Amino acid sequence: MQAEIARRTGLSPATVTNLVRELVDEGVIGSEDRVHQGRKAKWISPRAGAECVLGIDVGRSHVRIALVDLGFNVLGELQQRLARNTPSADILALVGEMLEELLATTGVERASIVRAGAGIPGPIDQKRHRIGTPSLLPEWAGIDLPAAFEAATGVPTSVDNDSNLGALGEYAWPPALDVDSLFRVRLTTGIGGGLVINGKPWRGVDGTAAEIGHHSIDESGALCRCGNRGCVEAIASVPGFLEVLGRAVGHEVDPDEWVQLAQQGNTTAGRLLEDLGRHVGVAVANIVNLVNPSRILIGGPISAVGDILLAPLRAEVRQRAVPAATRGIRIELGRWGDLAEVYGAAIMAMQAQDSVTYSIPKW
Ligand SMILES: [Zn+2]
Repeated sequence: MQAEIARRTGLSPATVTNLVRELVDEGVIGSEDRVHQGRKAKWISPRAGAECVLGIDVGRSHVRIALVDLGFNVLGELQQRLARNTPSADILALVGEMLEELLATTGVERASIVRAGAGIPGPIDQKRHRIGTPSLLPEWAGIDLPAAFEAATGVPTSVDNDSNLGALGEYAWPPALDVDSLFRVRLTTGIGGGLVINGKPWRGVDGTAAEIGHHSIDESGALCRCGNRGCVEAIASVPGFLEVLGRAVGHEVDPDEWVQLAQQGNTTAGRLLEDLGRHVGVAVANIVNLVNPSRILIGGPISAVGDILLAPLRAEVRQRAVPAATRGIRIELGRWGDLAEVYGAAIMAMQAQDSVTYSIPKW
């Protein structure tokens, strides 16, 4: 509502009227008269299709892209599977091809894409625009990430860790969550985390905050690819669990099939998920003790299994975290499932373009 903008920004109603008129003339927003709480009000909204952003979510085994207009309407979305260890050059080429296809099927003009946001599955040093810990994501090591994605898409691109973007998507995609702090765990072949504190992201100085997969839960545990011992990812290794399950059922299994098998009552699949839930719960309890957030969200393809995983995870948090911190906390599935990352990527692009609604905090 126009009056609401004046109230929130402190600008005079006349100034807001002039600004709105300018933006309507430029075709960026639409304005209409509506009745709100019994009174006539000017209702404004981003004009569908006028400008849009491209969200890109590169996981370890998939690429998803979405075109989103500034009113948060998804104009089109595409997903493709990735073979493990696909070189980054091939992933970037695939992103370019998928964008061509999406433009063709949606009829969106390339020129109307103002910016892109991309997530990749590792912590990023935002000052150097590169992977901060090359051993965690060797295929992207040394690459100037925004420049590489810009070359692939033809639009300026912001890049962040996919786990941060998943937390942003869950937090800010409308209707934005009314919480001041949340932690989101992402369970896929890797285990990631994203943290929002006081409505703002918490990446840490070098972009590695909330890397829950590399929290040590056993000081003398197995060696991890990050160089530490006893990390969640080393003890509750999803690729390791999939291998055990694959041997039990006689063929290779991916996370989606793991979920299906557990839901069909396969005992091995169910027990392995309980194990995963318990180990992740230990690390989540540590986060709860450190941050005392109001919401824990569980996302990623493996979370689709629901209570088989969530029940042991919740039990572990209740047992290990300070009781006061667990009293009001809600531990539940995320709202947007596998779309949270691509939604977060689109929101990051909108914020970088500075053409965002007031309801979204700066990421
Ligand atoms: Zn580790």
